[in-house]
Amino acid sequence: MLNNVSMNPVAYPLWELEGYQLYKKIFTGISPEATWVRVVPKEKRKEVYVECHDAPLSGHFGFYKTFNRIRMLYYWPCMRKEILEYVSGCRVCIEFKAKNTAPEGLMGARRVVTAPMQIISCDLMGPLPRSSSGYSYLVVTNCWFTKYVWARPLRDATAKAVACHLEEDVFWKFGAPKTLACDNGQQYKSKEVTSMCEKYGVKMLFNFAYHPQSNPTERVNRVLKTMLASYVDGNQKSWDRKLPQLVAAINSARSEVTKFTSHFLMFGRQLNFHAQADDKESPVEDGEDLEFAREAHVVKLKELDELRGEVEDRLKTAYEKNAKRYNLRRRDVEYEVVWFIVGILLKVIKREISLLS
Ligand SMILES: [Zn+2]
Repeated sequence: MLNNVSMNPVAYPLWELEGYQLYKKIFTGISPEATWVRVVPKEKRKEVYVECHDAPLSGHFGFYKTFNRIRMLYYWPCMRKEILEYVSGCRVCIEFKAKNTAPEGLMGARRVVTAPMQIISCDLMGPLPRSSSGYSYLVVTNCWFTKYVWARPLRDATAKAVACHLEEDVFWKFGAPKTLACDNGQQYKSKEVTSMCEKYGVKMLFNFAYHPQSNPTERVNRVLKTMLASYVDGNQKSWDRKLPQLVAAINSARSEVTKFTSHFLMFGRQLNFHAQADDKESPVEDGEDLEFAREAHVVKLKELDELRGEVEDRLKTAYEKNAKRYNLRRRDVEYEVVWFIVGILLKVIKREISLLS
């Protein structure tokens, strides 16, 4: 292909050669326009897998997230099949994720979310193995709409530490959310957290005590815990240092529910770990063009509102599907219990009969 394009570029409008690097124009499904991605020769694909699946910034995610991370940057023929083979053969994944195969969703999240930072929820994890820097807890916050994640390691699970995390990592950088949802942990009911929420006009919602599945952060925590375990293998003392990269992996991965990455839904642009990733789209020009480019960017951001409408629908569908599945599973359990009791009764009856005869 490289030779064909260099010999006759006009015949290949979807291909472009820059030096020795071949590019292909593709639709990634994220933005309505086609984007240029690098074409990767066979001998370079291992590097792509390391970058987009193995590295902590990519989080050893499953096929869907890995495939979407790769195709935003790269292309090669039959890549879907090859990526599927790589991911299903990954030893780290096989070892650490066997138990974590439930599809993601918003089980029991009955509240309607229609915008970023409308509802965020907060959850504490731990005690974890004490890290060399003395951390043994983890506080994780999650935006329900975008599924954006913030996390901070804590030395102690105190109310003050939780309030600090919310104020410094979330409120000051992303603005105050409308609602903070949390379980009935004492930390959240403390003066520190409640008065801070009051100060920023954040409504607090305590309704997770009886229904842990209704807190989406708890699901993020399970994912984070598995990820931490697969990277910290052998050195339990360094999980806190891996945390920023794993959180970046979560925020830059495409969600099966929303079909977008959390970072894109929050900011209207992708979280690229490659400086060159969108070079072809945004050339740096002089002063006048810069003004124009900014305006064009603002127009693009306004289009984001439409996409967010689509996300709202997808979240609703995912909830309905999950609620149905959850109820079915519960019914299964009930049936099992009934059959167990029926089994015991039959045994008793048989014994009675044999005693009688
Ligand atoms: Zn893996």
